[in-house]
Amino acid sequence: MLLETRALTASYGQFRALFGVDIAVDAGECVAIIGANGAGKSTLMRSITGVLRNEPGMVLHRGEPIGALPAADVLKRGIAMVPEGRKLFPSLTVEENLLIGAGARKAAGPWNLDAIYDLFPILRERRRNPGTALSGGQQQMVAIGRALMSNPELLLCDEISLGLAPVVIRDIYASLPRIRAGGAAVVLVEQDIGKALAVADRIYCMMEGRVTLTAPAGTVSREAIHAAYFGAA
Ligand code: ATP
Repeated sequence: MLLETRALTASYGQFRALFGVDIAVDAGECVAIIGANGAGKSTLMRSITGVLRNEPGMVLHRGEPIGALPAADVLKRGIAMVPEGRKLFPSLTVEENLLIGAGARKAAGPWNLDAIYDLFPILRERRRNPGTALSGGQQQMVAIGRALMSNPELLLCDEISLGLAPVVIRDIYASLPRIRAGGAAVVLVEQDIGKALAVADRIYCMMEGRVTLTAPAGTVSREAIHAAYFGAA
């Protein structure tokens, strides 16, 4: 298994945010994590990427525990994150932001500046613009490109469509098949259930720090998702 969490717990001080979360992602898979605000999706991402540390054996990459590693070392193992809110370096240009991603991990793979500019052609036009001069959608493309520049095995995307216009969301989602064709597995944190079901192989639904449903995306009913999302009526 490429990535596993086993009985993963996480807390902010006294506040427990995750109560024993088990997920698994196989190489090349696309998995969506859905759930309402506060369900613990971002906390799960932070736990996997090493922003939040956890106990040995709770997060495994290719069977090896990585939960105690600093975030930079998790990235070096090929787990890259597109963070919620994009978090670009605002004073740097598009190209400089992308190159930072490449500097974070030296690895062979399909992604370099040209490949990112082919994926998102508007970034080639804007490559000398600072991050602050971009639209929200363009910033999201840079954030995705920056993560891809490390040629990850696993790309974690935290709410990549949040706050963007439908036409922009469509363009960003259209890039996912090409990203998968490049070999990366993808985990999408998504509040839009329709979007998640359309692109993912499997979904996990979270509520109040627990996984309440896991199912292949093609077989799950809206009613089951609704119950797992909001609790039984
Ligand atoms: P959202 O879609 O709003 O990002 P989420 O499913 O990603 O929601 P988390 O952000 O993981 O949820 O939050 C899970 C719980 O942890 C929530 O109750 C939230 O208030 C709490 N929480 C998140 N970040 C912190 C923090 N830095 N300090 C304290 N509590 C936090």
